[in-house]
Amino acid sequence: MAADRRIVIENCSIATVDAHDTEYADGYVVIAGNRIESLGAGRAPEGLENVVRRIDATGHLVTPGLVNTHHHYYQWITRGLATDHNLFNWLVALYPTWARIDEPMVYAAAQGSLAMMARGGVTTAMDHHYVFPRHSGDLSGAIIRAARETGVRFTLARGSMDRSEKDGGLPPDFAVETLEGALTATEATVREHHDPSFDAMTQVAVAPCSPFSVSTELLREGAELARRLGVRLHTHGSETVEEEQFCKELFGMGPTDYFESTGWLGEDVWMAHCVHMNDSDIAAFARTKTGVAHCPSSNARLAAGIARVPDMLAAGVPVGLGVDGTASNESGELHTELRNALLINRLGAHKEAALNARQALRLGTYGGAQVLGRAGQIGSLEPGKLADLVLWKLDTLAHASIADPVTALVFGAAAPVTASFVNGRQIVEAGRLLHVDEDAIARATRAEAQRLAQLAGR
Ligand SMILES: [Zn+2]
Repeated sequence: MAADRRIVIENCSIATVDAHDTEYADGYVVIAGNRIESLGAGRAPEGLENVVRRIDATGHLVTPGLVNTHHHYYQWITRGLATDHNLFNWLVALYPTWARIDEPMVYAAAQGSLAMMARGGVTTAMDHHYVFPRHSGDLSGAIIRAARETGVRFTLARGSMDRSEKDGGLPPDFAVETLEGALTATEATVREHHDPSFDAMTQVAVAPCSPFSVSTELLREGAELARRLGVRLHTHGSETVEEEQFCKELFGMGPTDYFESTGWLGEDVWMAHCVHMNDSDIAAFARTKTGVAHCPSSNARLAAGIARVPDMLAAGVPVGLGVDGTASNESGELHTELRNALLINRLGAHKEAALNARQALRLGTYGGAQVLGRAGQIGSLEPGKLADLVLWKLDTLAHASIADPVTALVFGAAAPVTASFVNGRQIVEAGRLLHVDEDAIARATRAEAQRLAQLAGR
């Protein structure tokens, strides 16, 4: 029976990120099938049957796998452009290029994005894809295929845009879908790919892009569609001062009130950024349990500002971490966002009390699971949960002299991943991906980036 196959990991530090932040300085984890069977201090129980592998994890910290809650994979092939722009200028500079993407480009870009995250300890990934040029092929199918091949757990947020320049929006007319087209295609994607089960590897969310690129009808009807189908809702919110001004001019209210008026606050919703939130916005998110994908590097790169994460956490808002699209965060890594979230929030109002290392790790694991609606299954190491976990190597030059393993992981240099497991299956060994060819992906993404640049006349 496959479910009885056991993997025993021993001699490691463990940060479980459970409700009590339980940690073991020297402990073990037993994986049985796709679940965590047991964990604790000292050696694994004697007499376990069907042990197919025993890992001596001396010098390692074991944590739950990282959960990415916001990304745009297609941007992998438009990295390094519009490098000195704010959000709106950056979008306007890039839309004409993005409108030329096709299925092979999106597939290669998804492979690149996923590979970069997976080898850095991400076990659950997501992609918010909202650019669907006419006749560009099955983009959603290509993204999901790339996620399956990499081996990560995955949520596709099926995005859309239907408010173009002629309707007062930001994207050019040729880059958007119709209201009907977006809703029909989104429903078809949910029906084809969404798996509601406990150990689902693929889920789908309904994800109109942002207030300045979608119509009020698409927000309202998108929310109704998601609730009818029983899936989650995702969008961008309160990212910049310009967005706030846009909402006030067009709708006579700020972004959070606008979202509330269109059915977009609720425990089944998570929003990227949420940088410009006043106290009553944060209270509304807390009251409705609306989640936030905090993307510190992207917010810094686009000079959007510092999200009030300490205030959100204090109010009880679920918060996870996001890479965001790699056209606004060229690193494409999530493990470095643990450190960036901590450091950037300390530049805000709460100074050195803003976040500590444990809170940063929680954002990147359990917090992410919460906002993706999967906290019952992943995000912490507990018996019965799915076996998504990472072995971080902390006994080399970069980390060996740092006093505490969680501090080493968060404050130190990006730690190497010795092994990463998703659903009980290993996807990374000694920093290399086991199921896809990183070098072939690098070549493919470069070729597709060049093809796109040519098509776009850059
Ligand atoms: Zn984004």
